[in-house]
Amino acid sequence: MTRYSLGLGWRCNNQCTFCCAGTNVYDELPLDQVRCLLRIAADDGADELVLTGGEPTCRDDLFEIVREARKLGYTIMQLQTNGRMLNYADYTAQLIDAGITEFIVTVSGHTAQLHEGQTKVRGSHRQTMAAIRNIRRLGGFVAANVVATKAVVPHLPAIARDLVKRDVSQVQVAFPEPTGRAYLAMDEVVPRLSDIRAPLRKAMNVVLEAERFATIEGFPLCTSPIHLRNAIEWREGEDGALPVWERRGHGTPCDHCTITERCPGLWLTYLDRWGDDELEPVTSVI
Ligand code: SF4
Repeated sequence: MTRYSLGLGWRCNNQCTFCCAGTNVYDELPLDQVRCLLRIAADDGADELVLTGGEPTCRDDLFEIVREARKLGYTIMQLQTNGRMLNYADYTAQLIDAGITEFIVTVSGHTAQLHEGQTKVRGSHRQTMAAIRNIRRLGGFVAANVVATKAVVPHLPAIARDLVKRDVSQVQVAFPEPTGRAYLAMDEVVPRLSDIRAPLRKAMNVVLEAERFATIEGFPLCTSPIHLRNAIEWREGEDGALPVWERRGHGTPCDHCTITERCPGLWLTYLDRWGDDELEPVTSVI
């Protein structure tokens, strides 16, 4: 399987604190260019597609794009979304009918107050939770992507429990990249690694004990070595071919770590602001 990821443009109906798009305004990728890129990737052998943004559901031509991709032979199609539009059951049903096979929904809290404190849109928690309900009712695959902002981190275990109750198939916890809007408000938005470790481990264990798929992304691998195999970056290197990791780097403690080659390290903007003191070299892989 070869996966192709396509950003459809930065337009979004949320204003998330952690968004890497920042205050920049980008034009949407025109439909003819989308078609062309889909065709080129398919000709190169891609058969899995990830549609991302911004927020792909802000596009009126999303159904057209999905149908086109299906015609081109993509068999797995993932939509990364804040889920707000999917609160309309018929819209969700039409997306599944057009060819979407997986939904990755960004969830920022187990309560409206926490979630909407991140999205900055009133009512967005109710809509996103309705989206998860609709996808499950329609028999679709839904994963929740939880961005671990400073406000979210203490609540990670509670969020994990809530998502398990809502019957998501996968919970992914992601470390916010300090870029765009997250960089502009870095002290308020980006948590310190030392504050993440305990709640992240608890949240991972909640998901794994419920026998759901648990993943972490964006963290240096020493953040939770017991969950090494749940790290997307570790899994990507499993076939021996390491991907190129951009905008991340190692610190001095990494010189004494046994997994430096398999670990992309920490965001460079984090290292630049707060240094490498919190990195804890991994001495053995269990
Ligand atoms: S010490 Fe460095 S190389 Fe080792 S896991 Fe942490 S960030 Fe990665």
